[in-house]
Amino acid sequence: MAVLGIDIGGTKIAAGLVTAQGEVLAREQIPTAVELGPQAALERLGGLVAELEARAGTKATACGVGAPGPLETRTGVVLEPPNLKTWWGFALRERLAARLGLAVTVENDANCAALAEARFGAGRGVGTLVYLTLSTGVGSGVVVDGALLTGERGFATELGHTTVDLNGRLCGCGLRGCLEALCSGTAIAAQLEEALANGERSSLAAPVTAAQVVDAVRAGDALAGRVWAGAMAALSAGIGNFITAFNPGRVVLGGGLTAAGALLFDAVRTQAPSRALPVLARGVEIVPAALGADVGVLGAAALCLPARQSTTR
Ligand SMILES: [Zn+2]
Repeated sequence: MAVLGIDIGGTKIAAGLVTAQGEVLAREQIPTAVELGPQAALERLGGLVAELEARAGTKATACGVGAPGPLETRTGVVLEPPNLKTWWGFALRERLAARLGLAVTVENDANCAALAEARFGAGRGVGTLVYLTLSTGVGSGVVVDGALLTGERGFATELGHTTVDLNGRLCGCGLRGCLEALCSGTAIAAQLEEALANGERSSLAAPVTAAQVVDAVRAGDALAGRVWAGAMAALSAGIGNFITAFNPGRVVLGGGLTAAGALLFDAVRTQAPSRALPVLARGVEIVPAALGADVGVLGAAALCLPARQSTTR
């Protein structure tokens, strides 16, 4: 038995046939070609699925799809993801189900990654997990007793847009002092550039990337060190809040910013527990994500795999 996992992104669509144990039997990817629109992508995807099934020697019994939010998961309609403009309002679940002749489940990509880590990656062995992806933005997913926390209307969770500084920087979402506005890769680079524009001195010159800020911290640049420390304090406050809110066994951090390694993990492991109620902070592990490039396909597939078969609990 295998299910189909499809991960739709702004530049590529990845698909794989996945067993209940999380083994990817066959995988392939195609360009999204946003300019050609969603129906054209679905047509090419149909051919790709037939090829994957032939290669694996088995037919898919169901299909899970991860796609950029915001997403109306109950109806499977794509709302307004900034990097998929031609897909806005597209009835993804209905159209894909018709094309493939399979039941289709749709979920936002950060939730899919959280579920993949919970079932097959760094979250194995714990029932409740908070997942954060730290890259250009801050995405999140919360798994409770092996199942995704999706909320009343399916939009949970958006932990990157919780407030950690009442009067903090303006976020792309319109709110102020969001976690994403303080510790995403984009925000870290922007804060360093803002300090440079204010005449502060650094070994860096604008424009900068978060990776350059990390390198400068390691090289002893004082301004980079201060910006990084501020970002880690904000991230730790956020993680502390989530520990208090959800009582996770583990907090899993993924995304490009985690390439900073010990510089990031040492900071949050030291500071986050002191931002949570002590009884909840005790024993929580903060660990790096364990799944590589297959995380999107595995998470999408996990949407239609029964939790019991694929967890170690
Ligand atoms: Zn925000």
